[in-house]
Amino acid sequence: MGTPLESREAQAEEVFDRLYEEYPDTTISLSYSNRLELLIAVMLSAQCTDERVNKVTAELFEKYDGAADYAAADQEELADDISSITYYNNKAKYIRSACADIIEKHDGEVPDTMSALTDLAGVGRKTANVVLQHGHDIVEGIVVDTHVQRLSRRLGLTEEEYPERIEEDLMPVVPERDWQQFTHLFISHGRAVCDARNPDCDACVLEDVCPSSKLDHEVDLASGEAW
Ligand code: SF4
Repeated sequence: MGTPLESREAQAEEVFDRLYEEYPDTTISLSYSNRLELLIAVMLSAQCTDERVNKVTAELFEKYDGAADYAAADQEELADDISSITYYNNKAKYIRSACADIIEKHDGEVPDTMSALTDLAGVGRKTANVVLQHGHDIVEGIVVDTHVQRLSRRLGLTEEEYPERIEEDLMPVVPERDWQQFTHLFISHGRAVCDARNPDCDACVLEDVCPSSKLDHEVDLASGEAW
């Protein structure tokens, strides 16, 4: 059928109810054991799969112990340590610079405010939101990654295109209690069923409320183009 509910609020609630049933235990899939490792893992995960990041950090976190180690690291050596990750040169620079600031301006602790986090090199709102949520238990916004971006548009929850605009648009529609799980539910569903190129609408628990369902709609609302 593929008919969304009347309001975006009702649509969001229905989508959540069903996805909570499907993925009751979903959470962040990056590996880390403290806030600094979380920050570094999230920085490395931009444009890269969590699976690859976890492989690299398994050794990286053994080799470097704390912000001072990263700040003092040789650029080439650190870049080499993360060379299987996209944009490894830039990411190595950002990690060194962010860790130097953490030492100099924050007594070696990963800051706990959006503004202090986004002042660190290479840290945007998305990275900061993840660190606040999972490192400090502070939920200030919605993490909009590529899956959230795609599914929110497909499901008719937003018509915005860019992550920060999508976040602003969704925050009044999604109950605050769901902001954190919103991301994990959409990532799980995006990976399992609603992938970018070939979503499995036949097997999707949201099919009857999805205005992009391939079963009876011509257009993928995520891209605005025909299926
Ligand atoms: S898999 Fe198909 S029906 Fe399900 S959310 Fe994605 S586009 Fe909609």
